[in-house]
This record gives sequence, C-alpha cells and structure tokens, in this order.
Amino acid sequence: MDHCSQRQLATEWHVVRCRTIVIMSFILKANLTRRNKDEEGDMSGDDQGEEDDGISVKKKQRTEKMAAAALCVGIGSFSDPPDIPGLAHFLEHMVFMGSEKYPDENSFDLFIKNYGGSDNASTDCERTIFQFEVQQKCFQEALLRFAQFFVSPLLKEDSTDRELEAVDSEFQMSLPSDTYRKAQLLGGMCVNDHPMGKFMWGNTESIKTRPAEQGINVYQRLREFRERNYSSHYMTLVVQSQETLDTLESWVKASFSDIPNNNLPKETFIHHGQPFDSKSTRSFTKHPKKIKTETGIRNDFCHKIDIRHNIVVKL
Ligand SMILES: [Zn+2]
Repeated sequence: MDHCSQRQLATEWHVVRCRTIVIMSFILKANLTRRNKDEEGDMSGDDQGEEDDGISVKKKQRTEKMAAAALCVGIGSFSDPPDIPGLAHFLEHMVFMGSEKYPDENSFDLFIKNYGGSDNASTDCERTIFQFEVQQKCFQEALLRFAQFFVSPLLKEDSTDRELEAVDSEFQMSLPSDTYRKAQLLGGMCVNDHPMGKFMWGNTESIKTRPAEQGINVYQRLREFRERNYSSHYMTLVVQSQETLDTLESWVKASFSDIPNNNLPKETFIHHGQPFDSKSTRSFTKHPKKIKTETGIRNDFCHKIDIRHNIVVKL
C-alpha cells in the first residue's frame, strides 16, 4: 500500500495538476502585477541614485524575491480513531521528522530558515495544511524537500516520544485560552457520536498513556493512518513564484508525482447532521428557546458559556 502503480500515478497527477494550474494561474497573475510594480520602484530608485547605504539595504530587503507553497491534505481530526484522540495532529508533527531522502529530523525547518523563510502546519477538522515561504533562488530545492513529507516520511519510532512532547506542550499552552476551552466545551455537548465531540488536539494521555493501557500499538496505527489518509487524491497543492508557469509545472511534477495514491473513497461526515441539537445543549442555557441550533451557535449562547468557562479547566 506504500506506492501505487505508475498507471494510477499518471491518472491522479492529471487531477492534481488541473487543480494546481488553475490556482497557480490566478496567483501568478497577481504576483506578476506586483513584480511589475516592484521593478518600477527599483527603476525609480536607480534614477534617483541618492539613497544612502542603509536605505538601499532596506529597499533591497523589501524587494527580495520570495516564493511559497502550501499543500492541503483533505482529512483532519474528524478522522481520528476513537481510541487515539489527536492522532491526525500527531501525524502532522511527525512528517517533519525526516524522510528517506532527507533523514535528519527537522532538516526542512533548518533549510527554510537558512534561506530567510518560514514554515508551518495546522490540523483542522477536515483538512491538514502544510505551508512554507523561502527565497526564490532555492524554491526548486525547497519543493523537492517539502514533497518528501508526503512521498516517504520516515515516521521513526524513536522520534515519537520527542514529538509527542511537542504536541503535549502545545496542549498545555492552549489550556488557559478561553477560545479553546469554549470549543472543547461545545464539543462535549454535541449530539452523540458527532465528530465535533472528539478531543482533537491530542496530548500525552490520549496518544500514549490510555492507548498503552489498552494494549494499542500507537506507532503501528500512526503508519496505518498515514497510508489511509495521506493519499495524493486527497491533496491540493498551491505554489507561488515568479518563475514561468511551465517551469513551475515541471518542478511540481518532478517533486510530487511519487506521492502514493490508495484510491480509497474519502471519509465523509455529512450523515452526522447538525452537531448541537441535543438535550444537553438546550439545557445548558436559561433561554433554550432562543437558540437556533439548526443554523449554528448564536452569540448570546456563546456569551453564556463564557460566563461559565471555569468548569472547562478539568477537560
Ligand atoms: Zn501542533
């Protein structure tokens, strides 16, 4: 299940490429317009020729050519297995920990920072997004390195504890946030079995301690989760650069064509219906008749939860 056949890859690539080109075209148009303005600015600066060195350096930094890419995997925490809450978020972290081609942990981070860029990733309910920006001159190599997250991440067993600490540390830092408390509290009040009720962040207890008590091999499940969900037919890639469209297309093909495709149907959640039409939701407020649960959460409802947010500390 690691790699699909060449035929499958060719078919899948067509789909991915079409999506990419449309988005690329749009962004490139905007980017080219900005470049023209930059060039005009550069010319006027040259004509003046009166700026001192400090101002010239600042101007050069402003017009430094940057390029960027983002890849969205169309699955997220809703797909967490019920016995390992937070697994999707944990996997998002683990793919940064080296690949077969670039085995050093966090080597991508280092590469991007060495060339004046930044990277990040986030796990949402139904999508996981990875993104970076870097100096234009090393964009091709950055794409090669970035693609290996999805082609052949190592997911080394001896990296799991270290990265689990990072996930747990994020969770601990989020605890004082009323926004996250509110989200978790709301999740606890949705209708039975709705994925909104899952504990999506994940921490040491949900990813390590409790699974260990139940004899679950989290490392094995992590690899299975990746094989099931990090498939090329769930992915959309966007690149932004001042290279020509043909050049970008050839770079993207060379970097991303080997991402496995399992051709499995995507998990859907629409059959769960609305999440907040439960007795517990209605009994939580003093004026349940005023809540329009079929259209979402009204502000007055959120306000009442704010007043009571202290009870979330235990979650
Ligand atoms: Zn995280």
